[in-house]
Amino acid sequence: MDSSSKIDRVFSPTETKNLVNDLALCLEQYYRECQAMTSRTVPPLTPEVYMELVREKLTDNRTSFKELANLALSQGHHLHDPRYMGHQVPPAIPAAALFDVLGRASSQGAAVFEMAPFGTAVEKVMINELGKMIGWKEGGFAGIGTHGGTLANVTALLAARNIYYKDSWKKGMRDFLEAKPALMTSADSHYCIARACGILGIGTSQVIKVPVDSKRRMDLKKSREILQASKSNGLNIFAIVGSACTTPTGSFDDLKGIASLAREFKLWFHVDGAHGASFLFSEKYKHLLEGIEEADSVAWDAHKMLFVPALSTYLLYKDARNSWEAFAQEAPYLFDPNDPQGLAEFDGGLRTMECTKGVLSLALWGVWSLYGKEFLASLIEKAMENTKTLYRLITNSKDFEVAHEPQCNILCFRFIPTGIEHSEESLSQLQQNIRNQLLKDGEGYITGTRIEGRYWLRVTIINPLTNETHLSRLLDKIRGI
Ligand SMILES: *Cc1c(COP(=O)(O)O)cnc(C)c1O
Repeated sequence: MDSSSKIDRVFSPTETKNLVNDLALCLEQYYRECQAMTSRTVPPLTPEVYMELVREKLTDNRTSFKELANLALSQGHHLHDPRYMGHQVPPAIPAAALFDVLGRASSQGAAVFEMAPFGTAVEKVMINELGKMIGWKEGGFAGIGTHGGTLANVTALLAARNIYYKDSWKKGMRDFLEAKPALMTSADSHYCIARACGILGIGTSQVIKVPVDSKRRMDLKKSREILQASKSNGLNIFAIVGSACTTPTGSFDDLKGIASLAREFKLWFHVDGAHGASFLFSEKYKHLLEGIEEADSVAWDAHKMLFVPALSTYLLYKDARNSWEAFAQEAPYLFDPNDPQGLAEFDGGLRTMECTKGVLSLALWGVWSLYGKEFLASLIEKAMENTKTLYRLITNSKDFEVAHEPQCNILCFRFIPTGIEHSEESLSQLQQNIRNQLLKDGEGYITGTRIEGRYWLRVTIINPLTNETHLSRLLDKIRGI
């Protein structure tokens, strides 16, 4: 086939329709298998074998779309299997993934309104809805979609840095290093907060990690003491980051308490709500976020507890004016501040690190429009109920113990064999062996974490199809191991 007829074939609408029909069959089979738990949660292959599988397709060029799709689906991690209870990554609502495909199939998503008018409008509307849920007044706040919570957190802290250290965007940090800029957050905060400080020229050693209290929340008494002593220690703490929630144990910092410290010491108050901000959707659980309305900025992942595919994150600023502070960028060919149509407000590129980006709001808008907001809340509540059920099953068992009461859908626990003396070290090793064996057998997927040096098994109960049977089977499986 000559190259021009190949181009015609590849872009042919009929060819597209045929591929989509093939994909429909592949996905149907895939979701059926996941739900029936007939295949492994995690395939057993080594990276070398995967790479060989991948590489040979590049030169073959004869494998059909259907076979390629089936290969990718079967050899991936099966998050739609109800025994998947691992990371804070949900099995996406299938329709959400299809809305994502729409955006990609039509190449929407850009830094400027005119390159993605509908996608940009969708993003604006979603930000409006989320901001109102935080409790902010319509018209006062603003936000932007980013590829991931990490980027949202860095961007928020960049805006804070630029506001507190005037001209640092232009001149860098050299004039301010004497002042020793520093940031305060919980010892359990996500590593991207410290990483942001490295990137922003503040320095990772300038991250003050406050110890956590008995519920593993940032200890506010200690925070206050550190803030009071900071001047005499020559530290200039300009921002405080609350975690809603933390990743190891899902603990929600006392946002109200942090807000009052921020007010008293004139700090930028940022909430890392990557995982937990979505609990605002639930009437039953939104109380976990009390105080978030006082934040200056909030990072909120939709690709966690709103069940859309990665990546889809929102960064929101209480005061819309601050949203322009992170990037004081001029690029007249793209963004015309004197645009007669006044569309600069809609040109996302002025407020994000990214230039081209995906239409990362289409999926959330799509499922919200299709199924309703209450449906999203019900997924969150289901995850919470499941976690409470697992907590009950564990506390009723003599051979398991929990590290904490669940504050959300994350729970750390461990197996304690009865009638045998164990050193702390061998107990930690046992949990690691249990997890390794579980992954080897492919009959479930959980994670692990270290708390105060001890290793705990850790689950994020996030598959809406998981129920009590799967939870008690997990415990039995662990006992078996
Ligand atoms: C997941 C998570 C992050 C990182 O967000 P990504 O979207 O994975 O980049 C940051 N903070 C918290 C609390 C998280 O749960």
